[in-house]
Amino acid sequence: MNLQHILLRYHTVVFIGCSRHPGKPSYDVPRAMKDHGFFVVCVNPLAEEPIMNAPTYRRIEEVPDKYLEIVDVFRPSREIPLIVRHLIHHGKVPKVFWMQEGIRSSFAKEALSPLGVEVVEDRCILKAYLSLLSRRDEVYASILKFVRVYARARGYALNPDPEKLDEIVLALAYNQRTHGYRFCPCRPLSGNFEEDKKKICPCVWHEEEIKRDGHCRCGLFWNPERLE
Ligand code: SF4
Repeated sequence: MNLQHILLRYHTVVFIGCSRHPGKPSYDVPRAMKDHGFFVVCVNPLAEEPIMNAPTYRRIEEVPDKYLEIVDVFRPSREIPLIVRHLIHHGKVPKVFWMQEGIRSSFAKEALSPLGVEVVEDRCILKAYLSLLSRRDEVYASILKFVRVYARARGYALNPDPEKLDEIVLALAYNQRTHGYRFCPCRPLSGNFEEDKKKICPCVWHEEEIKRDGHCRCGLFWNPERLE
């Protein structure tokens, strides 16, 4: 999976080495990712209270499995083997193990790739995300944030196919720019706002459709239990 697909496929990032101090990259990067609608989880052995109001744990083994999508590390390269062994030992294997700029580890690749983990090294997750957004515009960014936050609040998953998700958000953004509202990409508009307002995403039918079909008609919001 390329970096852009990773950042459209997953919406939760656990930051190991998340700082309590604004102005440090290990605080500012998680903060910015949170502002973009990602669900951020902090791991800091010295934390006595939640950092940036995010769920905060002192040890990785305390992080609930449901949060283990992207694990992003802000620790020196020499500490990576220990962190990786610790993750494996505690069965805390994420979908993606991401090392920030300047952090590399061949050990991480050798140990985690056979377990099906995508390993990214020496890349800033925020720069990678901003690069994805640079191909789009602010409307796209705000809709992607909206659908992430809405899906999380309702316990839905988003379409697991990064290209499909991109396509749906692009269509919603097009409608927002053209009509001024996030009209549904897959339902025809009548031109009468009173009728069409039912089709502003999330449309009035989505809940029923998710219950019945496992996903809404456009395939944006999914019942997580119906994902393969
Ligand atoms: S079908 Fe899905 S994507 Fe389309 S408007 Fe309804 S909730 Fe939004």
